[in-house]
Amino acid sequence: MDLHTHTIYSDGIGSVIDNVNMAEIRGLRLLGISDHIHFFTPSKFLKYVNEVRSIGREAEIPVLVGIEANITENGPDVTEDFAKHLDYVIASVHDWFGEGEVYRYIERIKLALMDENVTIIGHFGNVFPWIGYPTEEQIKEVLDVAEEYGKAFEISSRYRVPDLEFVKMCIKRGIKLVFASDAHRPEDVGRVDWSIKVFEKAGGKKEDLLFSEMI
Ligand SMILES: [Zn+2]
Ligand SMILES: [Zn+2]
Repeated sequence: MDLHTHTIYSDGIGSVIDNVNMAEIRGLRLLGISDHIHFFTPSKFLKYVNEVRSIGREAEIPVLVGIEANITENGPDVTEDFAKHLDYVIASVHDWFGEGEVYRYIERIKLALMDENVTIIGHFGNVFPWIGYPTEEQIKEVLDVAEEYGKAFEISSRYRVPDLEFVKMCIKRGIKLVFASDAHRPEDVGRVDWSIKVFEKAGGKKEDLLFSEMI
């Protein structure tokens, strides 16, 4: 599976059909399209949902409609009006923090984990090398909230996060995982080798994946 791909609806360079074709060529069993939310007006959003659904009906594999929301200071910028049309919502932090401000990042992740419109946390920890690494206690808090609210994490092959230990802890607690290329070009769709490698190394089984019933 690859649940994190972008198209020309946001900052990707391929069309929805390009991504679907590549997913089929690569032998994926599940594809998700997840364009950035801030590129959408309400009418463009409905066009997007309809296009992905109609192409999905013709495809050889299941194609899900998602979106990538931003986790702002006030929480994820996805509304129920958008979420109700979608199969899933990825929420990611895209703002920059200073060195030593990892606590601000962790607070935002917790806001997203508690948000009813969010399904998956995107590229968790990709900025840790710059803002500092969380403490064990902070990681435990994140996992506690994720477990309580039933949220999933993506394993991002683009950013190579989260690390093996984190993935192991998710599996132990029954927190679901997904594979993510974060492709912005059709040729990168399905490039989730790193995600699969870490998942298998952590002892992950099919049932540890979100949407495992579809694959
Ligand atoms: Zn992102
Ligand atoms: Zn992305």
